[in-house]
Amino acid sequence: MTSTDEMLSARRRVIGRNVSIGYRRPVHLVRGAMQYLFDQDGRRYLDGYNNVPHVGHCHPRVVDAAERQMRALNTNTRYLHESLARYAARLTATLPEPLRVCYLVSSGSEANELALRLARAHTRRRDLIVLDAAYHGNTTTLIDISPYKFNGPGGAGRPSWVHVVPVPDVYRGTHKKYDPQAGAKYAAAVARSLDEMRADGAAPCGFIAESCPSVAGQIMLPPGYLAAVYGHVREAGGVCIADEVQTACGRLGTHFYGFEQQDVVPDIVVLGKPIGNGHPIGAVVTTAEIAASFDNGMEFFSTFGGNTVSCAIGLAVLDVLEDERLQAHAQRVGAHLLARLRSLTDQSPLIGDVRGRGLMIGVELVRDRQTKERATTERDRVVSEMFKRGVLILGAGPNALRFAPPLVITKPQADIVTDVFEQALGAIGQGQLRT
Ligand code: PMP
Repeated sequence: MTSTDEMLSARRRVIGRNVSIGYRRPVHLVRGAMQYLFDQDGRRYLDGYNNVPHVGHCHPRVVDAAERQMRALNTNTRYLHESLARYAARLTATLPEPLRVCYLVSSGSEANELALRLARAHTRRRDLIVLDAAYHGNTTTLIDISPYKFNGPGGAGRPSWVHVVPVPDVYRGTHKKYDPQAGAKYAAAVARSLDEMRADGAAPCGFIAESCPSVAGQIMLPPGYLAAVYGHVREAGGVCIADEVQTACGRLGTHFYGFEQQDVVPDIVVLGKPIGNGHPIGAVVTTAEIAASFDNGMEFFSTFGGNTVSCAIGLAVLDVLEDERLQAHAQRVGAHLLARLRSLTDQSPLIGDVRGRGLMIGVELVRDRQTKERATTERDRVVSEMFKRGVLILGAGPNALRFAPPLVITKPQADIVTDVFEQALGAIGQGQLRT
């Protein structure tokens, strides 16, 4: 037995079976450095999809900040420590007014849970509108608001207080990208959902959506969508929650947050993954008014949320983002990667749609461009062929590929990702190039 096999069976003995593992031949990684990962044999992989190590795997400044604070003190928000207020102020300053009150937690799920509690405390209602195929986290309530889970294997279906509207997918949905009114037309589904609620004597607590639905297949919201949705929801007395767990911190290039591209200001913003660069940090930022409704006498405490080490790391991540101008870099390299990926459309019949902003890119693979039949097995084979060639890419939704690398990826490395994608298409007989 090889050591990989031993590791796999040791894991199977003690870890729940539905804690999944990537790749048919699992990878044993031992080291990370910026946009690279290394396995036990010293093989190097270019990371084309991990958005958690936002400023780079093991970025030295982030590691130094963590180490220094680890040696000095690690404790919780019940004690005064200057880094808590400093980090919360720095983080909220990246958001528009009136988003000025911050809660720190330790995961995206914990942050979404808290966002729901805030929305419920403020509106004293429970009914929530969610996008189809959304995923918002792993807790009981978040599975209830995640169609990707409750409609998927092992799911128990939609709870009555959850209302699902179509993802505004301008490639596959009813309204297409050439329709300038697509955003408003998709938003009309939210208005209809609110009407149905009203007819049933219910009222909305709010609406939650990712600013670029990711597990739904890296969907880019059409212009005007969130503005129209927020208008409908607020008119009905609900609050608008932006799940920025995947999209925050400059990934989209033009803006620090995804919702800004839609020209809206949410009532509650949920943050996770990138803000800690791999260290578990989550955050919820809201308005003073909503925070006041939540301050109802019950203490809020998260043991690890806002601990001194997390704050030091969070501050280091923001420093690196600023000093290395990574948002502008994401815009430049992302535009290049998107253009290169689009140029492959002529090379392979399998490429149905290439979409993205900054370094948040999706490529949808189809068996037929007319019928848009999903090329799911082909997509999985492309992922595996890219892996063989040293590039890590993930599937998103049933048949899309997700390109969302650490922001430090360079243009020449984006070229490598594209070249390897082209070779992978060739290797499965779906490209013009031989490998
Ligand atoms: N929201 C979104 C959009 C996510 O992608 C995820 C994680 N994939 C979560 C929330 C949950 O975050 P976590 O796994 O850190 O709890």
